[in-house]
Amino acid sequence: MKKQYVIPIFVPHLGCPHDCIFCNQKSISGQKKQITKDDVKKQIEYFLDNIKDKDSEKEVAFFGGSFTGIDIEKQEELLQAASEYLNNGKIHSIRISTRPDYIDKQTLKRLKKYKVKTIELGVQSANDYILQRSERGHKFEDVKKASKLIRWYGFKLGHQMMVGLPESTRNDEINTAKALIKLKPKMVRIYPVLVIKGTKLEKEYKEGVYEPLPLPQAIEICKTLVRMFADKKINVIRVGLQNTDEISDPESDGSEVVAGPFHPAFRQLVESSMWYDAVVEKIKKLNAKVKEVEVTINPIDANNVIGHKRENVLKLKNTYDVDLIVKQDENMRQGKSKIEVLKT
Ligand code: SF4
Repeated sequence: MKKQYVIPIFVPHLGCPHDCIFCNQKSISGQKKQITKDDVKKQIEYFLDNIKDKDSEKEVAFFGGSFTGIDIEKQEELLQAASEYLNNGKIHSIRISTRPDYIDKQTLKRLKKYKVKTIELGVQSANDYILQRSERGHKFEDVKKASKLIRWYGFKLGHQMMVGLPESTRNDEINTAKALIKLKPKMVRIYPVLVIKGTKLEKEYKEGVYEPLPLPQAIEICKTLVRMFADKKINVIRVGLQNTDEISDPESDGSEVVAGPFHPAFRQLVESSMWYDAVVEKIKKLNAKVKEVEVTINPIDANNVIGHKRENVLKLKNTYDVDLIVKQDENMRQGKSKIEVLKT
């Protein structure tokens, strides 16, 4: 399979008249000025020069903001710049992200004209009260309508959901995942809410009205959601916000994060925890005292099985007095494992 690269282009808060409680797009994207077609071209050229694997699949992704909410002229300017690289074969696809209430037939026809392949919708929750509490300004019905229309026009559909929104419970988040599964997205991103500087959520947090999810709880719920999507063969392409200069440990200089379940390797924590559960489940099924267990996995999964700072190895030893041996085998399919008990 060809390697895939994303060429990210951040479109900060352009045209977004909303003010979602958790959002400060300028902080999230780390960018404070409007972008032009020249910025798009420069960014693409920069990545093309630096991607060593020339045969790889390259996708230009317009992140942040609400792409289809920006001026139509600006949308066309940015898409035009990216589509030149699509037409000359230097990139292979274009992706945009937007709000569900900024999707209609006209918009989708425009995106088709520039051969956009994937549209990601910021859903955040399937519960209308939570959407309203987060000042999203749309309802879940908008997500349903937009998702159906996007699929009907033949785009690849993506969804983004959040965990830990104000007043959202674990059940609400599970229900959101169930509701999204029904809409058949090809891919999903899961973002635990972080309190970002300059947002209304920061104010609520400082007033003691909002309390972010602790890290272990955020890992637990994300683990459940990842499993639900994986069971339905929906690709979870991100868990946790990308670590940048602004989205970093609240203690570090320049961080825009005030509080919340931030971890630079959040996804790894979630996946490691899933591997840990799988090994423990296997051990519990055996009617003997297990002393040593060998897990054979694809080398790509090795870090997750071992855990961040060897967490899984240490936890298995401390909790169950079991030694974990990790065997790497190129022939194992990624995500699959063979678990064998070596000593009982
Ligand atoms: S709609 Fe998107 S860009 Fe606009 S405020 Fe909400 S999260 Fe931010």
